[in-house]
Amino acid sequence: MGETRHTRVLIIGSGPAGYTAAVYASRAMLNPILVQGMQPGGQLTITTEVENWPGDTHVQGPDLMVRMEAHASAMGAEVITDIITDLDLSTRPFVAQSDSGTVFTADAVILATGAQAKWLGIPSEEKFKGFGVSACATCDGFFYRGREIVVIGGGNTAVEEALFLTNFASTVTLIHRRDTLRAEKIMQDRLFKHPKIRMLWNHEVTEVVGTEAPLGVTGVRARNVITGAEHIVPCEGFFVAIGHAPASELVKDQLPLHHGGYVQVEPGSTRTAIPGVFAAGDLTDHVYRQAVTSAGMGCMAALDAERWLAGH
Ligand SMILES: Cc1cc2nc3c(=O)[nH]c(=O)nc-3n(C[C@H](O)[C@H](O)[C@H](O)COP(=O)(O)OP(=O)(O)OC[C@H]3O[C@@H](n4cnc5c(N)ncnc54)[C@H](O)[C@@H]3O)c2cc1C
Repeated sequence: MGETRHTRVLIIGSGPAGYTAAVYASRAMLNPILVQGMQPGGQLTITTEVENWPGDTHVQGPDLMVRMEAHASAMGAEVITDIITDLDLSTRPFVAQSDSGTVFTADAVILATGAQAKWLGIPSEEKFKGFGVSACATCDGFFYRGREIVVIGGGNTAVEEALFLTNFASTVTLIHRRDTLRAEKIMQDRLFKHPKIRMLWNHEVTEVVGTEAPLGVTGVRARNVITGAEHIVPCEGFFVAIGHAPASELVKDQLPLHHGGYVQVEPGSTRTAIPGVFAAGDLTDHVYRQAVTSAGMGCMAALDAERWLAGH
């Protein structure tokens, strides 16, 4: 049996939302505890160049997250390397069980467990992640100005990403394993009319191919799911747009979720359906999914928590 620790504010997650909440909660003298989870620093630790974090024209994702952690600690947050395995929001104080055996009790909880892009799961995709393979057109489209891009997927996200990428690319090939898209009809019309977009129906991607030094993508191997025939589609950017999975496992039976698992918050706030429980970042956001929007919501969550605690 591990120790029991009480805190006024427990922050779960160490991405931009969690660390920003920790900075604000610390400066409000709430002595927050932040539990980092299995990916200290969050999603930005698996990317390279970030060019849209205000104040930095270029920053490496992992470096930015090291600085955010240092900032949160310097303001007084206690940053703990552990994973919350169980969270009970039905009692007061709230109770969180950690992987190491520590039990955290908290007057208020800020959920900032983020989301993960869904990937194809092929080894070559992993190898080229951040070097031509991406799951975020808003983040990485700018790097492929005048280049050929391939997008894979068939839902709204894939169509939105493909259309957005036409702002940069010379051509965008959208590969889908069926012969119709799931995306809304109005989006499909825009897609089919676009002169830079080419559809490759009934195909799946079996391999990302590229160079070793420097590491970079030169194409994807596409397999016809009907005939089995394979060919290489040349591209320098390969965008996987097959959806996102919000990390809402801890609260899925305790809080209302929507849009496929995102925690629902009151519009314009970070308040969830349980008073004293706040949610921020990609965990609640199926629309923007950016570091800066997550940080903004982290700030909101700390301010919402501070006001809620002041009233209780
Ligand atoms: C490859 C890639 C490149 C990107 N590039 C950019 C970019 O250039 N610009 C941009 O603005 N955005 C970019 N993004 C998006 C950006 O990373 C996210 O929008 C942002 O990180 C979301 O922040 P977050 O704090 O909500 O959660 P995340 O960064 O997802 O962090 C979630 C945190 O929760 C923790 N956690 C999860 N479960 C538990 C648990 N049970 N217990 C404790 N902790 C837990 C994890 O360990 C992690 O620390 C990129 C994303 C990816 C994947």
